[in-house]
Amino acid sequence: ALKPLIAGNWKMVGLPDDLGRFAEAMRAWGGTSRGDLLICPPATLIGAAVQAFNGLGIAVGGQDCHAKASGAHTGDIAAPMIAAAGGAFVIVGHSERRADHAETDAQVRAKAEAALAAGLTPIICIGEQLQQRQAGETLAVVEASLRASLPEGDLARLVIAYEPVWAIGTGLTANADQIAEVHAHLRQVLTSIHASGAQVKLLYGGSVKPGNAVEILSVADVNGVLVGGASLIAADFQAIAMAC
Ligand code: 13P
Repeated sequence: ALKPLIAGNWKMVGLPDDLGRFAEAMRAWGGTSRGDLLICPPATLIGAAVQAFNGLGIAVGGQDCHAKASGAHTGDIAAPMIAAAGGAFVIVGHSERRADHAETDAQVRAKAEAALAAGLTPIICIGEQLQQRQAGETLAVVEASLRASLPEGDLARLVIAYEPVWAIGTGLTANADQIAEVHAHLRQVLTSIHASGAQVKLLYGGSVKPGNAVEILSVADVNGVLVGGASLIAADFQAIAMAC
């Protein structure tokens, strides 16, 4: 079985004091997780998070990277910068990036390739909109997005996050049957593309909380979770980390 990945996405939330309090609570925590732990703070806190989590076994990641390694792109952050700051992962193609910055699957693929080239593990996010689910298009939408976002070649170093857009920040979660159906389909597509598709961790994201984490993490082909709001609260992140 793949080792679960419990990942937190802080989005555009978090000042140094918040990081300090979170790290203190994690340091005081007596619990252990069967999974790997990851926090993706705002880019301004990546270096500080690497320091604050020293010895805690919590990896750090970015929330986005540019497709190029450097250049005249004001405000953007390159994958080698995240790696140099001590990050090990980077989220690419989050639905909020796709919505706020009109990112396409082709751009997401280029970003994932840049992440791999910098030695980072990309977490590629895909997911359907509510009207697509209601129209019965979910599997077709996520498959098309997956195929168009995947870098060429060996897939073993990738993580894919299935995040139904209607479940993000809404308190609505996909139910276990809905998650199982999508994850089984993604697994089948990945293994049909490359044998290494069996090693890709498939995360679920969208209103994951302490109260639903055990059920979600026990679904077949769910190899972890990508947690937004609840990852800002150390006690909630700890409870989710213990749920696998
Ligand atoms: P919430 O857990 O706040 O719904 O966010 C999910 C998400 O978008 C993680 O990337």
